[in-house]
Amino acid sequence: LLQHPTVDLKMQIILIGDRNVGKTCFLERYTDDHFPEESKSTVGIDFRIKTVTVGETRIRLQIWDTAGQERFNSITTAYYRNARGIILFYDVTNPDSFNNIPKWLTLVDEYSRSDIEIAIVGNKADLTNAQVNTHKARNFAENCGYIFFEASAKESINVDTVFVNLIYKILKQI
Ligand code: GDP
Ligand code: MG
Repeated sequence: LLQHPTVDLKMQIILIGDRNVGKTCFLERYTDDHFPEESKSTVGIDFRIKTVTVGETRIRLQIWDTAGQERFNSITTAYYRNARGIILFYDVTNPDSFNNIPKWLTLVDEYSRSDIEIAIVGNKADLTNAQVNTHKARNFAENCGYIFFEASAKESINVDTVFVNLIYKILKQI
């Protein structure tokens, strides 16, 4: 019997973090395996669809890409509620973007499901002038029970890995 590939479930994941940390590039690398030479600043919110098979399960991912600026928070936080997973980005060369993580987590706490799965990602790991200590970042994330990876949208390092790990963790709850 020929088995037609059917989607077993739908899952929403939302990308957050300061502007310029590479959220849009990361998403484009994941969905199109492409790094945009010129990336436009995201206005408000946008999404992409990707269908993935994890284990035996076909999943239709709807991935929401948000603008990092505070003035968009009232728009973007409305999308937190339906998300099963959040990827919270910082830029390894920008300490401010790391120091703002607690501010983002406050929004997550306020607007998302209580069982949301969270991944913290230090993007731009291809750059040699990192300013955020890897161990400090990892300890912070892992003490909170979050997934942690350094990654690069540009050099395609750990991009799939972040999503697969997050999806596995979400699937364990379903
Ligand atoms: P967003 O505001 O978080 O969506 O950030 P963008 O995806 O628009 O990227 C902001 C800037 O960072 C752009 O100039 C990108 O080319 C650059 N960028 C994004 N990801 C990477 C990466 O992995 N490595 C490097 N070196 N630059 C990146
Ligand atoms: Mg963007």
